Amino acid sequence: MLQIKNLHASINGKEILKGINLEVNPGEVHAIMGPNGSGKSTLASVLAGKEMFEVTDGEVIFEGKNLLDLSPEDRSREGIFLGFQYPVEIPGVSMTNFMRAAVNAHREYKGLTAISASDFLKMMREKSQIVEIDAKLTNRSVNEGFSGGEKKRNEIFQMAMLEPKLSILDETDSGLDIDALRIVATGVTKLKRPDNATIVITHYQRLLDYIVPDFVHVLYNGRIIKSEGKELALELEEKGYDWLIKDGE
Ligand code: ADP
Ligand code: MG
Ligand code: MG
Repeated sequence: MLQIKNLHASINGKEILKGINLEVNPGEVHAIMGPNGSGKSTLASVLAGKEMFEVTDGEVIFEGKNLLDLSPEDRSREGIFLGFQYPVEIPGVSMTNFMRAAVNAHREYKGLTAISASDFLKMMREKSQIVEIDAKLTNRSVNEGFSGGEKKRNEIFQMAMLEPKLSILDETDSGLDIDALRIVATGVTKLKRPDNATIVITHYQRLLDYIVPDFVHVLYNGRIIKSEGKELALELEEKGYDWLIKDGE
């Protein structure tokens, strides 16, 4: 599904990603961990197509297409969901209308007609049940006055509605309480299918108490220095990163 080969990326001439290699197949959940400042969010931003980062070498292939050639919108329409893509508040636009526009933009890209009002409502109902989001929240303006937990829930709801092939969730360092962790983890687990995949970026070992990843990767200083199964997360919880950093350098 996704192949990242020797990816190098810089900001303002400073190299942050120094040769990332990663392969993700349908049905897999990958966790990317590592100390603060390792380049985890940079990797997510580069995959999202944020302009401030310059890719200086390597390639990213998503379902046979060169991802780096696509606009951020087209990456989304090709089936990549980035958790932080719509964190903005949009006063005056209800979640319902926002999601209908997003779902229809994806359908149009695939050559499908707009979803009917009744099918859309049915989809909203089904998906809001899966991710346990309250109708009160979907009737409110996008993210306006949402708490941290509500924003997270909303993010997972958007993911449920767009039915992406690949979801990339970057757990930012701030404001992640245990409820938000649970919401993300439960959503990811419930939405997991044999034909979709998830990359969860986190430096919280605790998230992995709730999500069971198939692979755990440690990113340090712009490189993946270790990849193993879920047992690596437990080892990191116990021992931290120091033993790996000495090993990996
Ligand atoms: P992580 O998510 O693993 O904590 P980041 O990707 O946020 O790491 O940061 C990796 C490195 O890139 C850090 O040294 C950080 O200071 C630098 N960096 C990230 N964003 C910017 C930016 N906008 N301008 C300059 N340096 C940046
Ligand atoms: Mg950080
Ligand atoms: Mg980060």
